[in-house]
Amino acid sequence: MKNIALLGSTGSIGRSTLDVVRANAEKLRVVSLTGARNWRLLAEQAREFRPQFVATACPEHEEDLRLALADTGVRVGSGSDAIIEAVALAGVDTTVAAIVGAAGLQPVMEAISRRHLICLANKETLVVGGSLVMDAVARAGVKLVPVDSEHSAIFQCLQGADANPPRKIIITASGGPFRELAADKMATVTVEQALKHPNWNMGGKITIDSATLMNKGLEVIEAHWLFGIAYEQIDVVVHPQSIIHSLVEFSDGSVIAQIGWPDMKLPIQYALSWPERWQSPLPPLDLLKVAGMTFMAPRPDAFPCLRLAFAAGKEGGTMPCIMNAANEVAVQAFMDGRVSFVAIPAIIEKTMRAFRVEPAVSIGQLLSLDAAARRQAEELVAAP
Ligand code: NAD
Ligand code: MG
Repeated sequence: MKNIALLGSTGSIGRSTLDVVRANAEKLRVVSLTGARNWRLLAEQAREFRPQFVATACPEHEEDLRLALADTGVRVGSGSDAIIEAVALAGVDTTVAAIVGAAGLQPVMEAISRRHLICLANKETLVVGGSLVMDAVARAGVKLVPVDSEHSAIFQCLQGADANPPRKIIITASGGPFRELAADKMATVTVEQALKHPNWNMGGKITIDSATLMNKGLEVIEAHWLFGIAYEQIDVVVHPQSIIHSLVEFSDGSVIAQIGWPDMKLPIQYALSWPERWQSPLPPLDLLKVAGMTFMAPRPDAFPCLRLAFAAGKEGGTMPCIMNAANEVAVQAFMDGRVSFVAIPAIIEKTMRAFRVEPAVSIGQLLSLDAAARRQAEELVAAP
């Protein structure tokens, strides 16, 4: 039995994780749930799963949540301390990290210090804190299993390959809704168009990241840390059908891929079942229904975010933290209708230029830089 702290239970990954828990009730138990603004859904989830504790990141919703759960005996808290408390509860041995953005970093550090199994969806944690997070993982001797579909694919391809490190990893990208759009048409795309992802149904922030290809850039940095591989050994290939979730190339030229319908319940369940595999209600892949699989190079002129992420990753130190903060601000501003789609990479690049890279030495340093980079990016939103 795994006893789970599910962080970000009201989001896309969080809800899919609860589907996996429902289907595996004899193996998985929810001990705590956390959310943010959607306290109604959080309360509904708590009624169904009866955790010990639920926390909302928003103190203004604590009372709503408490009233909604008054007859249940479920304890309620709010604010960032309560999210940490949800991880730190006695009896939790597994953390599913499905908060979006840099807000997920500190709860993951807490889970590492508690020596949990970490099922990591929150890629920003590794983008912002890569070296410090991986050092803490190694020191605590915990297992960090990726949930992100590309990284789950690579992780699956690498099972049993300990003596044979990969020569290259190839991360596939759907290319998002603007895969074929001319670079000079990007300036006028709407939020509604950017939120229509062709293959995956995800939260707003990652859907915009998929449209700019920043999501792939974040995933390149995530892969660098997870698999200890140099940026020069990571390729990105656009594969519009999202059937091949990523590939690994070995020294003899053999390439292994993980293939399946695009459904996050599979990588979520694998992270929870690893090193075992469990039965799954998902429909099996039918190659005859896969009309075809095509591949193309990402277009650097149309998607500058991919270049910016490679550059930030290679610069290393604090630069990915700065880039991530600027991206979070720019994406939110685009979703709010305050800036255009093409302003997103412009704001990120200008913010990166405004800071000098330093070695990453502590989580406290990264959190204050994250705040400073957000302020800088907000200024650029206001006066581009
Ligand atoms: P989402 O927006 O649907 O859900 C985010 C969750 O985080 C919600 O429960 C929300 O309440 C919570 N949250 C938001 N801000 C918070 C804060 N400041 N403090 C605490 N909690 C907060 O996002 P999602 O699509 O589920 O993505 C979650 C993470 O998983 C992201 O890092 C994303 O990149 C990653 N991921 C998602 C998918 C996917 O298919 N959705 C796939 C791969 C990776
Ligand atoms: Mg992914």
